[in-house]
Amino acid sequence: MLATLRRIVLDFSQETELQSALERMVTQVKSAMNTDCCSIYLADYHYQHFVLMASDGLAINSLGKTCIGFSEGLVGLVGQREEPLNIANAQEHQDYIHAPEVQEDDLNAFLGTPIIHQRKVLGILTIQQEQARHFSETEEAFVVTLSAQLASALANAEVRNLISSQQDHIQQNKQLQGIAGSSGIAMSQIVVCQPQADLSTVSLKKVTNLAAQHERIAQAIDKTRNDFTLLSEKLASIVKDETLAIFDVYQQMLAQVGIGQEISDKINLGWRADSALKMVIEHYISQFKAIDDAYLQERASDVQDLGNRLLFNLRQQEQQSRALPKEFILLAKDVTASMLAEYQHKGLQGIISLSGSNNSHAAILARSLGLPAIMGVNALAFVQLDSQQAIVDGYSGELFINPDETLVQEYQYLISQEQALTEKVMKVANLPCITTDGRAIEILLNAGLSEGFEHSGNLGALSIGLYRTEIPFMDRSCFPSEQEQTQLYRRVLNAFPKHAVTMRTLDVGGDKSLPYFPITEDNPFLGWRGIRITLDHPEIFLVQIRAMLRANQGIGNLEIMLPMISNIEEVDEATRLINQAYFELKAELKTQLLEELVKDLYDKDLSIELEHKAEAISQQLMKPRVGIMLEVPSVIFQLPELAKRVDFFSVGSNDLTQYLLAVDRNNSQVANLYDSFHPAVLRALYAIAQESAQLLVPISLCGELASTPAGALLLLAMGYDKLSMNSHNVPRIKWVIRHVSFEQAQDILSHTLTLSSTNDVHDYLNEQLETLGLGGFIRAGY
Ligand code: PEP
Ligand code: MG
Repeated sequence: MLATLRRIVLDFSQETELQSALERMVTQVKSAMNTDCCSIYLADYHYQHFVLMASDGLAINSLGKTCIGFSEGLVGLVGQREEPLNIANAQEHQDYIHAPEVQEDDLNAFLGTPIIHQRKVLGILTIQQEQARHFSETEEAFVVTLSAQLASALANAEVRNLISSQQDHIQQNKQLQGIAGSSGIAMSQIVVCQPQADLSTVSLKKVTNLAAQHERIAQAIDKTRNDFTLLSEKLASIVKDETLAIFDVYQQMLAQVGIGQEISDKINLGWRADSALKMVIEHYISQFKAIDDAYLQERASDVQDLGNRLLFNLRQQEQQSRALPKEFILLAKDVTASMLAEYQHKGLQGIISLSGSNNSHAAILARSLGLPAIMGVNALAFVQLDSQQAIVDGYSGELFINPDETLVQEYQYLISQEQALTEKVMKVANLPCITTDGRAIEILLNAGLSEGFEHSGNLGALSIGLYRTEIPFMDRSCFPSEQEQTQLYRRVLNAFPKHAVTMRTLDVGGDKSLPYFPITEDNPFLGWRGIRITLDHPEIFLVQIRAMLRANQGIGNLEIMLPMISNIEEVDEATRLINQAYFELKAELKTQLLEELVKDLYDKDLSIELEHKAEAISQQLMKPRVGIMLEVPSVIFQLPELAKRVDFFSVGSNDLTQYLLAVDRNNSQVANLYDSFHPAVLRALYAIAQESAQLLVPISLCGELASTPAGALLLLAMGYDKLSMNSHNVPRIKWVIRHVSFEQAQDILSHTLTLSSTNDVHDYLNEQLETLGLGGFIRAGY
């Protein structure tokens, strides 16, 4: 049963058109359950009714036409009760309503289950049978499980659009709902980027230009064969002969009589090259998997690998020959930092990521680039969105495909409002960040996710409050050398030579992985991450610290910050390693200087004087201040012990929120629960600020909360006098703070701390911002 269920769900999610997916699914369910009828109704909230969308058993003429009110009939009852309804004889039930057009007079047994996504009923799946009987518990469990699995695939507004077109409503704006990842509005053409070749994401399509398809696959095969030859030559001196044999197997499979011929046959039937490739490879995989031999079953993954490589080369041709439009919105399954780096200066206007949530690092990066972004969009057949016109509303998370003229005008107005706001705030960029009654705070920059921090000074940031070092480690094929790191860090320290620059040691793990250091865990955010990895690998940590110290030589503005600290021992161990690196480097430097000086001198009697001189020069290697991030809740309760060990604290509100609320910041499924304005988070932040003040430890905050207008006001009132944020928001937050008095901020904080729900906090803060004349910062056009 499990295999059948998986098959149905997989087929459903791979179908390119929702209507055909529904039709195929009802037929499969009817046959799997050996029953007489299976139907699916989808909810239309506009009209408050369910529409019969697909059925194998009911009259075809009624599809798309029969509607049942939310409080009518058995289907309505299932929706209202939000639970399965299993009745032996539907026609005798008091809620049964007779709809002659569906022709169900012979059907007696009825089993209906709601399809619910994030507490919202999206539709009803029904099973009917002539024989009057209760469906068994196993049958009921099957339908309930299936409905639960279908829910997320159905959970987007494509459904609404589908219903609309079936009912001939006038509604052109196809709307998909995602999570607001970065505020702002983008209006442009979509470019789909598929960096990872994965055959399972290919949707089957037919075309007419068969010659071009033959040409494409032939080129991809040639390229793949060359790749294998090169790869096996490269590896020949490193790996054993048996390992290399796999390349021979691949080469044989690629020979024209093998897979290549089969793909050509499929193309002759009208399939696109990638569709043909998918069909042939999947056929091979299923054949290998069916063989009762563990070794041969394993080969299925080799075939898959080969298929993905071929697909990669097919795609490469497309990417290379593709001319990007002047302006575009990037859509990818998983938007990565390197994608943004690649497209940033090529007309990129906005981002749509199918995975991730509002505090994934991709969203944080989008915010720092000032690009509107929508995360976690559940779009079936997203490849079809390529080249479509779209509006990305980064405030609400709405994505409109092919918007009509009225909507375009509405959004054009909002864009103009946004531009006006940007121009307005730039006027204060180079003024001090000070409240109307004279309270000053420092606005610092979160850097490292993208290049360009040197220019961010123009936006008014005093220095860098958080330099994330992991991105330079990510975009490579091995760890960077000490020399490479030194050069990079020196550039960063030199960007703000007169102020302290806070560099964080490597914080990989969670949603940041290194291609050459893969970590596979069930719970990555609770696993091997940040300081836990670097303490387990002192060789990586020491090289990074040495590079930071060397970069700091002669500048002296480095501060080192340790991420993900959860106990005292980690701080002690990291401090020991930092000291070790410092003293080793100092000794090395001294020896090196002495040798250089001695080389130039003939008179050995001057050696004592020289030693003094070398000592003085090596003093240039300064010992930096060391601080920790407060982002794991345990440290809130150990601040006095930590205060004795470090020079400063910086709150990482992104992770603190995730760990306090037990909500994965990268999971769109629970995005509605992730909120740094949750009363518990705000109270924790307040307690941290108060205790740090008593302990006389400087405190800053470098999470995303600092770059929200309401967050910045609350933090100011709590006593955080350094806020570090993405460059885009620096002038905005400056503007906000310069238009409020410290007293007003304190009043707002006092009332906020009495509120007990996140919604109440948001309502109250939005109201206050509007009263202060800062409504335009909540959403353009307010
Ligand atoms: C944080 O957790 O708040 C933080 C600033 O670090 P990151 O977002 O890189 O985890
Ligand atoms: Mg963090």
